[in-house]
Amino acid sequence: MRARQFFITTLKEAPADAEIISHKLMMRAGLIRKLSAGIYNYMPMGLRVIRKVEAIIREEMNRAGAVELTMPLVQPAELWQETGRWDKMGPEMLRIKDRHEREFALQPTSEEVITDIARQELKSYRALPKNLYQIQTKFRDERRPRFGVMRGREFIMKDAYSFDRDVEAAGKSYETMYAAYRKIFDRLGLTYRAVAADTGAIGGDRSHEFQVIAETGEDAIVYCPNSDYAANIELAEALPLLSERAAPAEALKRVATPGKTTCADVAALLGTDTTHTVKSLVLATDETDENGAIVKSTVWLLLVRGDHELNEVKAGKIEGLKNGFRFASEAEIVEHFGCKPGFLGPIALAKPVRIVADRTVAKMSDFITGANEADFHIAGVNWGRDLPEPDFVADIRNVVEGDASPDGKGTLAIQRGIEVGHVFYLGTKYSKAMNATFLDEDGKPKHFEMGCYGIGVTRILGAAIEQSHDARGIIWPESIAPFTVAICPIGYDRAEEVRNAADALYTELLAAGVDVILDDRGERPGAMFADWELIGVPHRVVLSDRGLKEGLAEYQGRSDEAASKIAVAELAAFVI
Ligand code: ATP
Ligand code: MG
Ligand code: MG
Ligand code: MG
Repeated sequence: MRARQFFITTLKEAPADAEIISHKLMMRAGLIRKLSAGIYNYMPMGLRVIRKVEAIIREEMNRAGAVELTMPLVQPAELWQETGRWDKMGPEMLRIKDRHEREFALQPTSEEVITDIARQELKSYRALPKNLYQIQTKFRDERRPRFGVMRGREFIMKDAYSFDRDVEAAGKSYETMYAAYRKIFDRLGLTYRAVAADTGAIGGDRSHEFQVIAETGEDAIVYCPNSDYAANIELAEALPLLSERAAPAEALKRVATPGKTTCADVAALLGTDTTHTVKSLVLATDETDENGAIVKSTVWLLLVRGDHELNEVKAGKIEGLKNGFRFASEAEIVEHFGCKPGFLGPIALAKPVRIVADRTVAKMSDFITGANEADFHIAGVNWGRDLPEPDFVADIRNVVEGDASPDGKGTLAIQRGIEVGHVFYLGTKYSKAMNATFLDEDGKPKHFEMGCYGIGVTRILGAAIEQSHDARGIIWPESIAPFTVAICPIGYDRAEEVRNAADALYTELLAAGVDVILDDRGERPGAMFADWELIGVPHRVVLSDRGLKEGLAEYQGRSDEAASKIAVAELAAFVI
């Protein structure tokens, strides 16, 4: 590629709304341009990186036996109604109507459509296992789109879905994807951890997030430096009881130790789904004497992973809960947890629970028939999203850092992470809801065992830059750099010898399959170098009149302190 022909739009300053370094550098390097909140143009330079990320993902997915397809961005409401997610998804799902007033959604994910394909096309056990994937635009109307492509509203995701005969085969599909993800993130040159993640309503222990380690990450990971143990903080909170999941009735009894009840226990109790938003409920029990007078009250804090504004909470369930429990009064909460009254900011509590101010109290009360907002307090936690970051980090440290770990091998430490991938065993959640079956060997219909596997393609650009940059700009891992080599001739437009040498090297590298850009813009050396350092091209070759007289060129790797001289004749061999 020649720079004049290409599209280079670097900026001296990042726009004011760019808060974190990756967002700033992506703007300055001309990789993206904002169209609207969370909606970006992927400019030619950025698209080259995206395409390289996609190519690596595609190669490893294909190698792992997955098959590519593309599903529509616009999906009919009916499919989403079959699984109940049309109502459950809440405002994150963007809905539109066509001219006939029919309802559609812009796909935030594609379980419904892929399950619909499976139930129509995969008729027999002989067709299994199948793993289908797409690399497609997703739309999620995020409450707080920010950090550029890191949390966009429109973004590119690779999403894969596996279909298997039984639990054992589904486990194999999961392991295959887990291994493929490791290869993908290794090849992308990222420093990451695979961490255990909450499985929510689906249960089981098969969900892992791939987290790129970075201070600006929105997630917090606890890990044990002496073992393989690593978990998303949401899960770590619930961990003590994960091994002894119990029936809802049992869960209530175990609330005796505040903070030790799993999210799933409470969700099961309340009949909620347990994806996405973390909530907690502050409850109390009263002991009465024979005259019915309260002699002792105990306050409990339950963590609940609520399903989008808890719109699944059933009044009946809450009524049932009220038989043994009531919502605690603020005075009780203050006394019990030693926190400040008012609930006006994040309040760190005694380990291992905490309460934060909740904006959804009113909404909750809508769902709880007959309840009056004054009757109860609900503390909502949306980890890492709506809380001021410093408090969030401090709170989390209060919770687990230095605690013994769950596997008995040491004390826990905390890192922040960016979720770039997620593998999830789904079981028959979707196949049952949509009655997706195949005929098994015995001739009987059986529901597919499913898994889903996502990778945030565009988010990876941000994550890679967060991990690898310096004062001059981006330092791309070679595997995803927009160009591998930049040839910078000084005086390309006026010095014939320089032009000839640059053209010759360019042609040679192109023929060798190197992703090379020849800077034929005739820019001053300083401006030219600054551009390529900002854009983060791994190798730079400078050709000048003076050097060429001695048969020498200057070479500098993007992370090198200084340039070194290399014989022009050896250049191609050197950079390839
Ligand atoms: P997050 O917790 O960051 O909101 P998620 O758990 O909602 O992500 P998944 O449903 O697991 O996301 O989607 C798979 C992948 O898509 C994520 O691991 C992430 O890399 C990417 N992703 C999700 N939301 C966004 C977004 N708003 N912008 C860019 N990438 C995203
Ligand atoms: Mg999300
Ligand atoms: Mg997540
Ligand atoms: Mg996820």
